[in-house]
Amino acid sequence: MSSKESFQQRLKKVRKALRQREVDALVVVNRVNTRYLTGFSGSYSYLVIDQDGVRFITDPRYGEVATAMMEDIAEVHVQPTSDVQEWFRKLFKKNDYERVGFEGSVTVDELETIKGFFRKIKMTNEGDLIPGLRRVKDDEELKTIRRAVRLADRVMGEAIDRIKVGMTEKELSRTIRILMEELGGERESFSNIVASGPNSSHPHHQAEARRFRKGEPITIDLGGIVGGYCSDLTRTPVLGKPTDQFVRIYDVTLEAQQAAIAALKPGMNGRDVDAIARNVITEAGFGEFFGHGLGHGVGLEIHENPRLSPRAGDYLLEPGNIVTVEPGIYIPGECGVRIEDYVLITEDGCEVLSKSPRRLRIIG
Ligand code: ZN
Ligand code: ZN
Repeated sequence: MSSKESFQQRLKKVRKALRQREVDALVVVNRVNTRYLTGFSGSYSYLVIDQDGVRFITDPRYGEVATAMMEDIAEVHVQPTSDVQEWFRKLFKKNDYERVGFEGSVTVDELETIKGFFRKIKMTNEGDLIPGLRRVKDDEELKTIRRAVRLADRVMGEAIDRIKVGMTEKELSRTIRILMEELGGERESFSNIVASGPNSSHPHHQAEARRFRKGEPITIDLGGIVGGYCSDLTRTPVLGKPTDQFVRIYDVTLEAQQAAIAALKPGMNGRDVDAIARNVITEAGFGEFFGHGLGHGVGLEIHENPRLSPRAGDYLLEPGNIVTVEPGIYIPGECGVRIEDYVLITEDGCEVLSKSPRRLRIIG
């Protein structure tokens, strides 16, 4: 399937959802959703989707690019931003829409203006529609996602190889940032985390000028963007001989992760998957030190649905979902470990896309 056909398929699904919801047209504002439906990644556009077609409105800066990109996808209208409201008014009047759905963020001022303009039209918030579709990745997305995950694996391997006593967290963090671009990523999918020694007990630690010492764990959480899609991967190697306590929490974390991965399949709820990993950690006596959810969806954004967490909704996993599985144990003031992999839900189970070795890596 070409990427153009993928966009057409996705738009078709939006149309079907609009029919089910009895919404005459949907106005798409959100940048990520716009990219998902059309490939356009510029900073200004509106999409109007109804049963007859797709209109793409942008300003003259993007006119040429958009016209070339939208062939067979949408009808392009290039409007100076000052004329956009008038354009909408005419369109809504001409099509006699009764219910128009909106999604994405607008400012309160913009909202007031829009409300005033379309007084006779019922406006509905359809913010959940496109994220709902984005939960299930199509073949085109999976191809790109596999490349993004390969990049993360390569950067992780390189980063771990460069660790040595005396290097600072900041130095390794900078190296990862550079590797991510050198090895083909557009940029990092989030600011990487490098947390050494006692800092490894902070799940979201910010790299410091602290130097690595012998016997210390180093948590590395990184990801890159390829073709718009994010990867996300964590390993916790140790520099030299680890403490018994660290080996213990590493083993328990890995066991928890493997138990969740072994169970993952379509039809499961995110709360149940979380509970499988959490029970392993709790039974080993470390339950109070696992303070975050087990995992999250990933795609065009680093945190998407579905979630694997005690607070996950009622959604049941489907083939094509992508989730991270990332249990951790964090003992304040001492040490911590997190092991995170990138997993695709398949027809009969799951496939772990990230290939970095999971056994405890002892450096040096
Ligand atoms: Zn991560
Ligand atoms: Zn993650």
